Amino acid sequence: MSNEKPIDRPSREDAEEAVKVLLKWAGDDPAREGLRDTPSRVVRSYEEFYSGYEIDPRAYLERTFEETDGYDEIVLLRNIRFESHCEHHMAPIIGQAHVAYLPRKRVVGISKLSRLVDAYAKRLQIQEKMTAQIANTIDEVLNPFGTAVIIEAAHQCMTTRGTHKPGVTMVTSRMLGAFRSDPATRRELLAMIGSPSMIATGNM
Ligand SMILES: [Zn+2]
Repeated sequence: MSNEKPIDRPSREDAEEAVKVLLKWAGDDPAREGLRDTPSRVVRSYEEFYSGYEIDPRAYLERTFEETDGYDEIVLLRNIRFESHCEHHMAPIIGQAHVAYLPRKRVVGISKLSRLVDAYAKRLQIQEKMTAQIANTIDEVLNPFGTAVIIEAAHQCMTTRGTHKPGVTMVTSRMLGAFRSDPATRRELLAMIGSPSMIATGNM
């Protein structure tokens, strides 16, 4: 299990009470009809937003298949939409992940790669860390010839508050093994993802 899990977890009642405090602090009355059930709804939402803490992401990759008839080219899962929350403002981060690996004899079910993304997205995150966590987990558990994770996301802490810059997205990547050491393999991956701007700018 995750070592980021809080040790002293407050009760659901404590959590709902905390939401009430925030509602009051915002200037509203938690006792009025429209807000009466809001604390319990927020706490239920949190259970979904932060469900990744309950998951061991490595377990998703433990079941592999070896009957691949020698397939040894890139496996890429493209455009995996995810929703996360930034750890600085608890504001949504919404984006897409591209996850690739070069199999060493064994492959995983493709749904497992998207579950892996969700397991790390459903936590308080910064995009850089999430990118590294996904790549490192694949690299450590599957031990492939190469691992690549590219994430592009919009951060609502930047679009709806602070500098208010809608339309800005952040791109992060982590390349390991052949994707890092072999420019031809990296170019092939980027062509598969279909992001010529990233190749042109060398932004990898
Ligand atoms: Zn933020």
